[in-house]
Amino acid sequence: MELYKENQLKIYNSLSKSKEVFKTVTEGRVGMYVCGPTVYSNVHLGNLRTFMSFDMVFRYLLHLGYKVRYVRNITDAGHLESDAEEGEDKIVKKARLEQIEPMEVVQRYTVDFHEITAKYNFLPPSIEPTATGHIVEQIEMIKEIMDKGLAYEVNGSVYFDVVKYNEEGNNYGILSGRNIEDAIHNTRALDGQSEKKNPQDFALWKQANEFHIMRWPSPWGDGFPGWHLECSVMSSKYLGDQIDIHGGGMDLKFPHHECEIAQSHACSGVQPVNYWMHANMLLLNGQKMSKSTGNSILPGEILTGENSILSKAFGPGVVRFFIMQANYRSVLDFSNDGLLASEKGYNRLMEAVSLLNTLKTSGNSSFNVSNWRQECYDAMNDDFNSPIAIAKLFDAVKFINQIKDNKATITSDDLELLRKTMNAFVFDILGLVNDTKDQGSNKLDGTIELLIKLRKEARDNKDWALSDQIRDELLALGIQLKDGREGTTFSVN
Ligand code: AMP
Ligand code: ZN
Repeated sequence: MELYKENQLKIYNSLSKSKEVFKTVTEGRVGMYVCGPTVYSNVHLGNLRTFMSFDMVFRYLLHLGYKVRYVRNITDAGHLESDAEEGEDKIVKKARLEQIEPMEVVQRYTVDFHEITAKYNFLPPSIEPTATGHIVEQIEMIKEIMDKGLAYEVNGSVYFDVVKYNEEGNNYGILSGRNIEDAIHNTRALDGQSEKKNPQDFALWKQANEFHIMRWPSPWGDGFPGWHLECSVMSSKYLGDQIDIHGGGMDLKFPHHECEIAQSHACSGVQPVNYWMHANMLLLNGQKMSKSTGNSILPGEILTGENSILSKAFGPGVVRFFIMQANYRSVLDFSNDGLLASEKGYNRLMEAVSLLNTLKTSGNSSFNVSNWRQECYDAMNDDFNSPIAIAKLFDAVKFINQIKDNKATITSDDLELLRKTMNAFVFDILGLVNDTKDQGSNKLDGTIELLIKLRKEARDNKDWALSDQIRDELLALGIQLKDGREGTTFSVN
């Protein structure tokens, strides 16, 4: 269903710093690029929060009926230890410390990332390209930028000429709001960066010294690509010169995304991204969660409870619920108490979802389900405001409990709409999993409920043969139906 036609989605664009009506380049299609993990260690819960925010965005766009091509890369080369392009490649360093091949590091943490995202019920992206798989394309893009006169080579490295780019009427600083002229006058040339014309210039290609293992031949000698380049290359290769959405964590705005804009714009002459989205940080002990400072917790540790911050283990649904209760543009403080509180709310929500299958209907509804449904959509249409959407779901939870206690009534049409909307928001859009039941038995229950419904229809049509067939064949599978005054129940042997 093309729900996007009746829902006016607005997205906060970090470039214009305002909420804008979402208009796609191509009708009905969305191209979305999100900067993926640098696979030199396990993703921490902060990283996962950012990826989960975009999983929610992806899910909502799909729910609205868009055909989405979602590209999330794997950074497996070129990301140096510091943003100032100093220090070792993060992956090479890990390989050196562990005395293994860099590609073993890449493999280990890519597998970990996939396992964790699967456990937390992420939808896989449409394409997951790697930096090392696109060296040829990166070299081609560098050549193109050099042909435009916006990059220069020194000692086998190639740098983007930020000053020249700005002199040509462009704005390096357009996204982050940094004033490049001030920066030029206020920054000392850093040691070891003297080969750059200007400290603001950034590397497109770095010459590999004799010890650097991850190296590729290029027109400028053996080397490796600069970190920012891969995202310009892979987004334009798979999504074109102008993409709908580009996402990442707030801390990637500068320099990473600023550099991406400069590189892509230098080649194509157009603004590469229509909507820049930045997810805010997860904090621990009041500080940004970060691997390098040791102020972090792993998503796997939460599932087992193996971290001294935690009083117990928590299911992935509770953690997702905790994260979705905050707006993706707000900082979120992680704490054990926060998870405990979320668990209570999450359990209430899941209980209400289960109750939906048992409610009795009546001739009228004491709750305006259509209005409520629209309010749920309005919340998500307002820049994916998941906490407001969750608050709306709890209006329904209250109503469901009142129906159960015979303090409210609902028609069968409204019940159908309520069930459909709750399931869509809870499972499809927020991506919550029902930790209280395992996924397999959940699906089985749903399938048996469906067969019970079909058998009832057969009986209503006096099609006794079909109704008996459903009962007998289920029995042969060990599933016994019991007809009672309240309807049909079942037991699985
Ligand atoms: P990295 O693997 O370092 O490239 O980071 C992967 C993603 O996690 C990036 O989008 C970062 O912006 C994001 N990120 C890093 N730290 C945090 C944090 N504490 N909270 C939320 N997102 C984060
Ligand atoms: Zn990137």
